[in-house]
Amino acid sequence: MQAAQLSVGLDVGGTKTAALLVDSSSCVLGQTTVPTHTATPDELLATITRAIHAVLAEANATPQQIRSIGLGVPGQVDPATGIVKLAVNLNLQTFPLGPTISARFKAPTFLENDVRTAAIGAFDYLRQTEPVQSIAYVSIGTGIAAGVILNGRLHRGQNGMAGEIGHMTVEPDGELCNCGLRGCLETIVAGPAMIRQMNIASPQNQVQNAGAVYEAAAQGNQAAQQVVQRVSQHLSRAIQWLIMTYDVEKVLLGGGVTRSGEAFLAPILRELARLRQQSTLAAELLPDEKLYLIPPDYNPGVWGAVHLANQMSSETITHISANDKGRSSLKT
Ligand SMILES: [Zn+2]
Repeated sequence: MQAAQLSVGLDVGGTKTAALLVDSSSCVLGQTTVPTHTATPDELLATITRAIHAVLAEANATPQQIRSIGLGVPGQVDPATGIVKLAVNLNLQTFPLGPTISARFKAPTFLENDVRTAAIGAFDYLRQTEPVQSIAYVSIGTGIAAGVILNGRLHRGQNGMAGEIGHMTVEPDGELCNCGLRGCLETIVAGPAMIRQMNIASPQNQVQNAGAVYEAAAQGNQAAQQVVQRVSQHLSRAIQWLIMTYDVEKVLLGGGVTRSGEAFLAPILRELARLRQQSTLAAELLPDEKLYLIPPDYNPGVWGAVHLANQMSSETITHISANDKGRSSLKT
């Protein structure tokens, strides 16, 4: 392993950063998760550097063997320049993250928004078994957002914001969102929103995470069942919008909240069934098979970042479609 043939993908989150080191056949040589430090840009750079050195150490490799680096970043980024325009959770504004990492490791570095990056990873995962071309990937965790791939190409939109469904208004007089508007989808469907709704409805049983809400609902807690019902109704409508807006073949669901598995999925499927009963249009466009739950042991964010590293960016992801053999087709 002397030639520079290794790729590093990083999913840089507000609290933790995951990294994956792969060889030219996309075999995993190293993986790690480290806490993200965001007090200053230097601390964030140190976090990324630490994660990269950790995966290199696991593979007994050196920085000189890195061919390219991909970064999924929670915020607005300019993939062409590698500049992070605004990433509130990383405490960054107009910061040249891509060029800085590139200079530090002497390797080309590619950036994309984290949910768009995860959409690429999710798309690739599904394509190992199904020849899909157009998907929406919905990430439901501390927030909710989607990434859209149309005809094998990442759809970014004018500002790279295509799929930011979390800030679509669903209840004009609802809760105040941190974006400044009221009643955004994210004030109802997201981990913190579920915890808040549950703790207001049932102050005697404070929960710490969305999984506990699903568990309480399964055990017959009525407050939890109502929260799950409300979340599932809104989420099924969001899925309907994505299908109606983009006419995608599949809607893939991932992120922390989806880790409750069947308990998460079943009430959404019930809602979709209810819509199908009411409408032949819904019956045609919203079959259960449209939904796909990303398994919890696959991290689409970090795999999407590996694709970025391999220059499977918005311009070149179509190569996957053209060659179509899943990860084995990854070439630069
Ligand atoms: Zn909002």
